[in-house]
Amino acid sequence: MNRRKVKIIYTGGTIGMVRDYEDGGLRPFDFDNLLKQIPELNEFKLELTSAKLDPPIDSSNMNPEVWKKLLKIIADNYDEMDGFVILHGTDTMAYTASALSFMIRNQSKPIILTGSQLPIDTIRTDGKENIITAIEIASSYYRGKARVPEVAVYFEYFLHRGNRTTKYSSDHFDAFKSPNYPVLAEANIDIKYKRHALLKPSDDKTTFHYSLCGEITVLKMYPGISPKIVKHVLATPDAKAIIIETFGSGNTITDSWFIEALKKRIDKGLIVLNVSQCMQGSVKQGLYETSEKLKEIGVISAGDMTFEASITKLMFVMDRFSSLKSIRREMERDINGERSIDEVEFNCLDMDIQSMDSSETGSQK
Ligand code: ASP
Repeated sequence: MNRRKVKIIYTGGTIGMVRDYEDGGLRPFDFDNLLKQIPELNEFKLELTSAKLDPPIDSSNMNPEVWKKLLKIIADNYDEMDGFVILHGTDTMAYTASALSFMIRNQSKPIILTGSQLPIDTIRTDGKENIITAIEIASSYYRGKARVPEVAVYFEYFLHRGNRTTKYSSDHFDAFKSPNYPVLAEANIDIKYKRHALLKPSDDKTTFHYSLCGEITVLKMYPGISPKIVKHVLATPDAKAIIIETFGSGNTITDSWFIEALKKRIDKGLIVLNVSQCMQGSVKQGLYETSEKLKEIGVISAGDMTFEASITKLMFVMDRFSSLKSIRREMERDINGERSIDEVEFNCLDMDIQSMDSSETGSQK
């Protein structure tokens, strides 16, 4: 019988770190040692191969160039492999998972990210269970189709959709949450897959998109924010888009200086996306007076998307489209399970959703 093939891609992070006894800091170490720490991997009836980023990185140093390298490893091995496990630091795992979920179109095979809160050479490490179960999930097929044909994060007994995930704890083993979407699977004695929550494998050819637009700035609202600061952020040179992190269901101050400054920039072509500071729930522009104006002046709602999904989706969409109309349409639709469509504010109702600017690339979903 042919064994299923899984490629483990080691990027760095706590899971592969050792303590430097001179200064007490944690530093990445070589991947070959990581495999030595888990002899249990040899017991899988699978063909396991590995690849690594050289040098391995703390995921706080993650960036689109590294995502490209990661994507290239996946693309080069995609036809041959049945699934992938990416070992990744927890700090930016949700960003990488979100970015990959947009950069890979028509996915049919599992790409499971995992890591750990304690290094693998520590007695109480959570890394072993995380890696072992992630591999099991990445190799799980039913009637010839992958059970999890999407980018997902496995951590501490739960499998979450990658672009719905956020890191919420820096010291709990259970470090990730998917506040607006149900878990995809739960690992107890058996791994229970939630069939209805999972995406279906695509029969179309999988494609890989390497470029992203990084010219995005962020403005986090807080009571008392100075007009000077806001105006400086809005005037950031080279910024093509700004994410405003708002209160509650997408609310901000209603002061006219703020709305006017924002409108001026939108009229000059700045893309403005409204993402809530709340972890759970959704932006609903127009629900309160404090968000009505935002809707009127053309701010785009991020609905129930996480911050991580919002920014990486914007990076992906802005690289492919240039007009406000197309960027709004793409941001407001669900590309790959990242937002609930019943939460979409149909700001775009008056637009022809099917129409595309001929100068722009079409969506590949
Ligand atoms: N700083 C580490 C990283 O994200 C933390 C971790 O892996 O948990 O790479």
